[in-house]
Amino acid sequence: MTIQMNESPDTGKGVGAVRIARFLWSYWRRFPLVALTTLGLMLASIVFDVLFPIVSGRLVDAVAKAGFPPAASETMAAWIALALFVGQTVGFQITRRTSMVFWGMLATRVMRAIVDEAFHRVQRYSTDWHSSNFAGATVRKITRGMWAYDALADTLFMGFLPTVLVMVGITLSLMFYWPLVGLYVLAGTIAYAGVTILLLRRFVAPRNRLSVAADSAVGGAIADAITCNTVVKSFGTEPREDNRLGLLSHDWSLKAMYAWRTMDFVMMAQMGVLVLLQLGLLGLVIRYWTAGEATPGDVAYAMTSYLLISGYMRDVGFHVQNLQRGANEIEDVIRFAENEPAEPAGPHAVPLAVQGGDIRFDHVSFAYPNGKGAVYRGLEAHVKPGEKVALVGRSGSGKTTFVKLMQRLYDLDDGRILIDGQDIAGVTRESLRRSVALVPQEPMLFHRSLAENIAYARPGATPAEVEEAARLANAHEFIGKMPLGYDTLVGERGVKLSGGERQRIAIARAFLADAPILVLDEATSSLDSETEELIQDAMDRLMEGRTTIVVAHRFSTIRRMDRILVFEEGRIVEEGSHAELMARKGGRFRALHAVQLAGIRDAVPEGGGPENVEPETAGNR
Ligand code: ADP
Repeated sequence: MTIQMNESPDTGKGVGAVRIARFLWSYWRRFPLVALTTLGLMLASIVFDVLFPIVSGRLVDAVAKAGFPPAASETMAAWIALALFVGQTVGFQITRRTSMVFWGMLATRVMRAIVDEAFHRVQRYSTDWHSSNFAGATVRKITRGMWAYDALADTLFMGFLPTVLVMVGITLSLMFYWPLVGLYVLAGTIAYAGVTILLLRRFVAPRNRLSVAADSAVGGAIADAITCNTVVKSFGTEPREDNRLGLLSHDWSLKAMYAWRTMDFVMMAQMGVLVLLQLGLLGLVIRYWTAGEATPGDVAYAMTSYLLISGYMRDVGFHVQNLQRGANEIEDVIRFAENEPAEPAGPHAVPLAVQGGDIRFDHVSFAYPNGKGAVYRGLEAHVKPGEKVALVGRSGSGKTTFVKLMQRLYDLDDGRILIDGQDIAGVTRESLRRSVALVPQEPMLFHRSLAENIAYARPGATPAEVEEAARLANAHEFIGKMPLGYDTLVGERGVKLSGGERQRIAIARAFLADAPILVLDEATSSLDSETEELIQDAMDRLMEGRTTIVVAHRFSTIRRMDRILVFEEGRIVEEGSHAELMARKGGRFRALHAVQLAGIRDAVPEGGGPENVEPETAGNR
């Protein structure tokens, strides 16, 4: 397959710090001005912060050293110390707040880019990738990744960066005054960081990852059950689905609790180190004071230094927890970012130019990537320009695969598929999609207006063109009866329309697409004969002048086609016109025909058999 997404995002090891850093850098570098302004302001605010103990100490000294009543110079010195003290606060607040404003601008731009790009890639991943990944889980991964950036980047920029730099600044300034105290603080800080990182990596990270995976499973299960809500309703299995989700949410709650509890223990260990730091730092300074080597201002300086660094360090636990969680949650979007969906035809793809619409399967061999074996082994088939061909055969005989391969939803194992002599493996995705219009068996509609749904094949279509297409598809009349006509919103996946109506919307889409090649996957479900006739009529009009391949289930359709290909276990076992095949005694098509007739005789009288047969065919008995 073209997309190698072998890693399952929910299991295995994390993506690692280097990949996360590369990911963040790839976004930050796109907004250099905002990023550098934010960083500059943040650094300035850190400088102000580091000055805090120094100006506090000076203020205390200015007051403590003065006699009473203070001399004019001493009063002046106290006022200057106060001005510096207040100036420090104001400077800190202004720089920190403005840096946050710029940071917000950067964050929203980056988050937008993350969600846009993850969606861009995921949309283009192969059919196979999509069929093996829950839609709901993918949606969650993308949106969660966007918010994970917020948590992660905030923690790094507003948590870790100031913490580390303030630590370095304070340690340096303490070392300048009393090298021994500075060294002690340095050792304490390193011990604190070491304990924190070790415990988190060793114990918290793996538990967090389990909890994130369990959270994804909950999301996936909800999406799955909600998507199939009609099935759930029809079997009345809501309680069973409740239980299913209950098991998964229980699993999540255990894993989350386990992860959080571990984090609490880690924080206790951190506090222990912090108390030791406090004791040592202030103990040493008191000793200097008793030896007459430290002034009251120096003690105030040491105390505020401790308060400042302990304030920052106390938050390190939260930061690391957020960082870890952010890192775990952003993994999925990083994987998306690293897995660029390739153009299946490679960089040298050329546009497909269709004139007549001649289709040739040349020795095609194919097996589904996760299937049970080869569907085709050296299949040969040829559809002439403008010809109308029906594919018939039992379920599982390989009809749908034929049309999927024509749309290049999968790569072949061997052989070629040629359209007007051009190998579709080498043409661009867009040109192929433009040349082949599909009316699927179960048309999916977007939760958008009917007009938008029809115009999907040609976004620039005028309302008149949309209406014309709807008329040709025999859909105009029922749309006219809708509350808002063409502006009526269709429920998710078109559930508010009947099957027959949805099919006619899909046919209208195909009229607008106006592609030279048409693929119709006929619905197997039964329709009332009036609707059936409207659809047949619309389909006849649509097929006119186009090479058409129909995966056919109704004899009324089959009879209209120029040629019939009978599939059996991935081989074409018989081909010819309806009359030819019916004339062939002991032929496969006749047998199939007979089985279906028997089917309706035994089954539902109103033509609701598994492979529906029209009333008129039933009349042939
Ligand atoms: P038909 O349209 O005639 O009912 P298909 O072409 O859908 O048959 O299927 C042919 C064979 O390929 C069947 O055995 C089916 O189980 C298998 N198959 C179809 N789709 C997939 C898939 N996505 N993954 C694996 N096997 C598949």
